[in-house]
Amino acid sequence: MNTLENLITLLSRLPGIGKKSAARMAYSLLKGEEEYNRLLGESIAELKNKIHKCKECGNYTEDELCSICTSSDRESTLLCVVEESPDIMMIESTGDYRGLYFVLHGVLSPLDGIGPSELGLDRLMKRVDDLGVTELILATNPTLEGDSTALYIKHLLEGKDIRISRIASGLPVGGDMEYADKMSISRALKGRMEY
Ligand SMILES: [Zn+2]
Repeated sequence: MNTLENLITLLSRLPGIGKKSAARMAYSLLKGEEEYNRLLGESIAELKNKIHKCKECGNYTEDELCSICTSSDRESTLLCVVEESPDIMMIESTGDYRGLYFVLHGVLSPLDGIGPSELGLDRLMKRVDDLGVTELILATNPTLEGDSTALYIKHLLEGKDIRISRIASGLPVGGDMEYADKMSISRALKGRMEY
């Protein structure tokens, strides 16, 4: 396989990129500036070295703790559980949420070997206790796996004096939170109901 074919194959492994788009990208890189290609290559190569998960919430950060966890004007008794880091960006973009987060980096999927410990649910429970959380928002995606993960977490919290809400409603059914628009997330946050 030559260099160009190799690049096309690699690019087409990215989410949402088919063989055609990958080829278009590769040819565009070939025609474009060498400096841009160098910068792009470097930032991809550095990504895994520089970025890691925040020790508290799991959000991606270059520091030990992310900027949300270290911020002094967040409500530490309000916690929102999301599937992936980009979900935080979506919720933050609404400006309607002032609490903290916990990123699962996935959903329960027994067939794929993803259970409670892979999602760090023990760390979630510890975080809930350490922060003295009084309200927890389950913002996993409105999919079968997202729903069962939310339900599982709800059961784990049974017996604790915590108001639990689920904000899947209002988001497009079957659609990932990442692709939901700002308005629907904002509406879901404001209209959240006891779960
Ligand atoms: Zn954090």
